[in-house]
Amino acid sequence: MATKRDYYEVLGVPRNATQEEIKKAYRKLAMQYHPDRNPGDKEAEEKFKEAAEAYEVLSDPEKRRRYDQFGHEGMRGTDFREWTDINDIFEHFRDIFSGTGFGGSIFDDFFGGSTSSRSRTRGTAVQRGSDLRVKMKLTLEEIATGVSKKIKIKRYKKCSACNGNGAEGSSGYRTCPTCNGTGEIRQVSRSIFGQFVNITTCNTCNGEGRIISNPCKICNGEGRVQEEATVTVDIPAGVSNGNYLTLRGEGNAGRRGGPNGDLIVVIEEVPHEIFQRQGDDIIYELNLSIPEAVLGGEVEVPTLTGRAKIKLEPGLSPGKILRMKGKGIPNINTKRNGDQLIVVNIYVPTKISQQEKEIMQTLLNSPNFKPKERTKKTKNIFEHFKDIWN
Ligand SMILES: [Zn+2]
Ligand SMILES: [Zn+2]
Repeated sequence: MATKRDYYEVLGVPRNATQEEIKKAYRKLAMQYHPDRNPGDKEAEEKFKEAAEAYEVLSDPEKRRRYDQFGHEGMRGTDFREWTDINDIFEHFRDIFSGTGFGGSIFDDFFGGSTSSRSRTRGTAVQRGSDLRVKMKLTLEEIATGVSKKIKIKRYKKCSACNGNGAEGSSGYRTCPTCNGTGEIRQVSRSIFGQFVNITTCNTCNGEGRIISNPCKICNGEGRVQEEATVTVDIPAGVSNGNYLTLRGEGNAGRRGGPNGDLIVVIEEVPHEIFQRQGDDIIYELNLSIPEAVLGGEVEVPTLTGRAKIKLEPGLSPGKILRMKGKGIPNINTKRNGDQLIVVNIYVPTKISQQEKEIMQTLLNSPNFKPKERTKKTKNIFEHFKDIWN
């Protein structure tokens, strides 16, 4: 067996650390080694699990006392477990992870902040309902302004007939025969460290101490029924593909009065027909006619908020980038608008009249129209972009 690191060392706290310090230290490590932040990093994953294990022990006064006394050996024969599935960690330490909003960390500021009102349900009969995930497609125009959208979802809601408890009236219950109403099963086990009383939740009644003898006829004792609900989702301006918003309590109701899960809305950006997004900027390719490029003037271009006129200086080469300040997408955090970048392209006609041909012939012989040789100093389009973003 590989040697385990000391739990206090893992969390980086002194042996007399308070519960608050332990929680803080774990939260910090969990953020640092969170798999979403370290995709594919095995070492980070191990550290993440190791921290969860340390936290599980040190956050529980009884387990901590035993660990202080006997070290890792003292954990044997208890309900202590090693974390193998990362999702179990999230579920188990929900209070640590709720409100952290991984992947779209910005959103928790919009939806309730980091202090979740949800309480841990371990050791009680009720179980939190599951989260619901839905995708929401948004156009760049919607992203630029922010948008409020209604979505239809199917979910469980609390059964109103039994108020979620699953029993038909107050006589619908009887005392659990397995635990005689205590909700707990006590098991005494012996080891070389002495005698331990291991208390587990009663499986028959899930710790509630009573079982339903007469289930609610509407929900069959589930305490919840399916509904089709319409939820309004307010999307702030500036979101991007893959961001998500967590709507607390808008997910499935839990069984038998368990608290609601969350509704997680994942943003999917619909590719735009004419614009390309680059962070907070959008790129538009402008086709100029040959005379327009040579003479300059005023042209109309589309923007995310309608058409706008821009002035062109004479003598624009293809690849040149013009900037329309503030016509991009607002930054999700700073709210400062990005720009619209216009890449100049020159439209060359394939069909021309005899008269146009003659004009072209004249220009062909004109020394001003003779192209200069390209040198290393001539900027190509990538270098133009580099200038803009650096
Ligand atoms: Zn019911
Ligand atoms: Zn029981």
